[in-house]
Amino acid sequence: LSFSSCNLPTKLLHNIESIGFELPTPVQMQAMPAALDGGSLLVAAETGSGKTASYLIPIITHCTNSSNDELSKRKPLAMVLTPTRELCVQVEEEAKLLGKGLPFKTALVIGGDAMAGQVYRIQQGVELIVGTPGRLVDMLTKHDEIELDSISIFVVDEVDCMLQRGFRDQVMELFRAVPCSQVLMFSATISADVEKMAHSMAKSLAIVFV
Ligand code: AMP
Repeated sequence: LSFSSCNLPTKLLHNIESIGFELPTPVQMQAMPAALDGGSLLVAAETGSGKTASYLIPIITHCTNSSNDELSKRKPLAMVLTPTRELCVQVEEEAKLLGKGLPFKTALVIGGDAMAGQVYRIQQGVELIVGTPGRLVDMLTKHDEIELDSISIFVVDEVDCMLQRGFRDQVMELFRAVPCSQVLMFSATISADVEKMAHSMAKSLAIVFV
């Protein structure tokens, strides 16, 4: 498998090359085609495996191919949850690099920054929201004007860490708030609890071990 055989938008493929990714990593080889196909996945993947791009590339492809009408209001099409602010910052940075020059905007929703600015950015029109569960639940509780009804891809990164930190209920609350058709979950370890949570979010789930 090569990036150029994945039928990616030309500009995205160009960005992948500019960043210096030559070949997909094993996680990307296993997860990307199924994710590009719209399937829900639970992927056993550690930091350093290239897991971030394995979900960002399908997200950017979906956003580029969808008719998020630029003339009317652009609505978020995907949501990525990670357990820490630092990881959210890294994911957003990689998303910006991969989505450069495409109609693909991102919003970061994490603690430590004023919520008003984050709400404003979403209202201006973004395709992807990257955030921590606590801050996102807090934001949506206070701002029910934020429209999530176009979100079709829901990503939970570091599921094991989410559970360890006690974020299960918040992740599920966010999951119930979006009408997503595809769930992508990544976890260094696949415990019974991780698997149970994944199955509760996706009727048809493929579990990927690399
Ligand atoms: P991650 O596991 O997502 O944290 O990625 C670890 C590092 O691998 C990041 O710095 C990525 O930029 C890099 N990376 C991701 N995919 C590739 C690839 N296909 N080739 C080379 N480096 C990659």
